[in-house]
Amino acid sequence: MQKQHYRISLTAPENDPSSNTMKQSVYLFIGITLYFSKLCIGQLPSYEDDPFRQIHELLPTPNESRLASGAPGPNYWQQKVDYDIKVSLDDTKQRLKGYETISYKNNSPHSLKYLWLQLDQNRFAPESDEALTQEAPNLDGISFNGLRSQLYRQSFDGGYKIKKVMDSKGNPLKTQTVGTMMRIDLEKPLHPKSKISFSVEWEHNIIDADLNRARGGYEFFKKDKNYIYELAQWFPRMASYTDYTGWQHKQFLGRGEFTLEFGDYKVEITAPSDNIVAATGELQNPQQILTEEQNKRWENAIKTGETTFIVNPEEAKKTQENKNKPKNTKTWIFKAENVRDFAWASSRKFIWDAKYHEFAPGKRAWAMSFYPNEAEPLWSKYSTASITHTLDIYSKFTFDYPYPVAISVNGPVFGMEYPMICFNGPRPEEDGTYSEGTKNALIGVVIHEVGHNWFPMIVNSDERQWTWMDEGLNTFLQFLAQAEWQQKWSSGRGKPKSITSYMSSSTQRPIMTNSESIHQFGNNAYSKPAAALNVLRETVIGRDLFDFAFKEYSTRWMFKRPEPADFFRSMEDASGVDLDWFWRGWFYTTKNVDVAMKSLRLYQIDTKDPDIEKPLKKEKREEIDAKDLIDSRNEPLPKLVEKNRELLDFYNKFDPLDVTESDRREYNEFLKSLEPEELKLLSLRRKFYVIEIENIGGLVSPVILDITYADGKRGTVRIPAEIWKRNTKTVKKLVVAKKEITQIEIDPMLETADTDRNNNYWPPRPIESRFQLQKRKKETNPMQKAKEEENRSKEQKNEKKKKSSGKD
Ligand SMILES: [Zn+2]
Repeated sequence: MQKQHYRISLTAPENDPSSNTMKQSVYLFIGITLYFSKLCIGQLPSYEDDPFRQIHELLPTPNESRLASGAPGPNYWQQKVDYDIKVSLDDTKQRLKGYETISYKNNSPHSLKYLWLQLDQNRFAPESDEALTQEAPNLDGISFNGLRSQLYRQSFDGGYKIKKVMDSKGNPLKTQTVGTMMRIDLEKPLHPKSKISFSVEWEHNIIDADLNRARGGYEFFKKDKNYIYELAQWFPRMASYTDYTGWQHKQFLGRGEFTLEFGDYKVEITAPSDNIVAATGELQNPQQILTEEQNKRWENAIKTGETTFIVNPEEAKKTQENKNKPKNTKTWIFKAENVRDFAWASSRKFIWDAKYHEFAPGKRAWAMSFYPNEAEPLWSKYSTASITHTLDIYSKFTFDYPYPVAISVNGPVFGMEYPMICFNGPRPEEDGTYSEGTKNALIGVVIHEVGHNWFPMIVNSDERQWTWMDEGLNTFLQFLAQAEWQQKWSSGRGKPKSITSYMSSSTQRPIMTNSESIHQFGNNAYSKPAAALNVLRETVIGRDLFDFAFKEYSTRWMFKRPEPADFFRSMEDASGVDLDWFWRGWFYTTKNVDVAMKSLRLYQIDTKDPDIEKPLKKEKREEIDAKDLIDSRNEPLPKLVEKNRELLDFYNKFDPLDVTESDRREYNEFLKSLEPEELKLLSLRRKFYVIEIENIGGLVSPVILDITYADGKRGTVRIPAEIWKRNTKTVKKLVVAKKEITQIEIDPMLETADTDRNNNYWPPRPIESRFQLQKRKKETNPMQKAKEEENRSKEQKNEKKKKSSGKD
């Protein structure tokens, strides 16, 4: 890229009767502008290719349930489902038996002839769609554990054993199982505003979560022969019936998560009497279940507000080492209101700490952690602290945490979320030491999973369809929470620069893709939307406006079910910024941001003074002539006109760049024709730089230019994305400067997710890297190996001889 120099020629309009000084100067400015804009007019994008076209045709038509503003409307409805469940845990067979009564309230304006129930455990049945559609593992490099998993999955007796489905009078109901779903046919249609209740009796084996990565399961500890159980998707749950898709009964294939209805739960959990149970909701019978000492500690935690052990590490150790495991059981009773699911965990290994935390003035919730001694010393230090931090930060950016408890449990599942409770995996080494990675993984995963209380447990998006609506928004908030944990969080998702290699990769799908069809799951549904929201917040809208709009979206859809359009529309509605181009580019395409410097031109005003302009032109001509190879080689050759001088004439001496009296006269006349304002403009000694920028990645983006001048001073020009409106490939920007520009850098603070920064500079920079020199290892040949073996056995014989002689 060369800097090119140009001189601007100003012309005054001739004899305009209406002209006055003001007008003329306006004309002059328009003249300059037109001159530059002529350079800028490129190919207008076609209607289809216009990145700023509004996204109406991509979104559903707004109605009185879902308004054009993105808010729920006066006709918004959702079903309500209450559960009363009795479940018992068999610690010898790793099995659950349950009996549940479901009360279903039809708030829709439609009559329902049948209901659909989700049987998620059927995913683990040997003949499930999930099992049958698994591709073969790569046997060339399989680990021991990998092979054990393969064999386990083929032999595990998974899936529900549905014993009975009965109406409220105890009569059997007709059902039809379809993979992980079950249809229940009703005697009479369930009319709008009416209620029905029915019961299901079921059993299923609990999966070994070490051998089959699932969202729940058990972990067995060989050392003390005890278990940790994390129970999720453990009971038949109602499928959702919605205004936008009817019954959401897409099969559960393992990846696309859950679409659920809000309701109230009463759950009675019967477990071995020495187990500690953690669950969604509040414990209803602590006086019966906990010891006097434990109840006292609980009261003390309320009083002090400090993190307090309800079961301390020594007590947990004692229980797990007890050889005579109790035969009797205890029944823990929990109640939870307005939740969309229920999960729990049980173990005799659990340490239990609790903090009655004030996360906003006058607002409190229990932050509690349950973990085995294997998780120490990491967990008592960081788990509950991470929960309270999440309650503080998420409440600030969205709405106050509305539930009474928030729990983090350590067990076999690395990270999985449920209302009020989540499962988190990271643990230290056996000797109690840990890497920085493990520590950050624990803090990060607890923030993330507790954060899921907001998205999707309360802002109840359809996870089976859209992974990004909970994972993307939650990863973004996790990023904000980590930023307020410590300066410079070392790794993680959310920064624009962290998503650039994914966005320029070839195996992408748009963010707006169904869960099961996504490639590169984590990048697509977590990192990219989180980075996108940071670009919106920092670069496109600004923090204040963004935070206002995001809070508005969150509160609008609290305890309701938003769709993507509701998010897109709410963010525009509340920020007052047209973001259609942003949603289209970032969420509906796989284009990436790659903005490059193409050229830099310098224009200066032509003074029209022949004594200035002509010598300048001469200088330039001589500069070029001096470089001419052929001319310089021709110079020594004898020339005819020198031998034969009568062949010379006027033109052999004439130089059009010599200043003549007529040039000067013309110049003076021109000066006389100018108004004072025009004279001022003509004498303007500014540098007009035209910066040409190219859009290589295709995604339109704001352009940030960091400009360095000859005196070392720097300036930033922030250009909105709309610069690409008329030409999506190349645009030119005018910068008027007093000093010479010495350097330009695009996106100097790495805020736009530019995928190739090598082309961001003027003048261009060499692409630097370091390469390593390898020293080749000498390989031993088979003869050498045989010789080595011989020597080794000789040595061993000598050693034996020495030992036996030493004994004598
Ligand atoms: Zn998540």
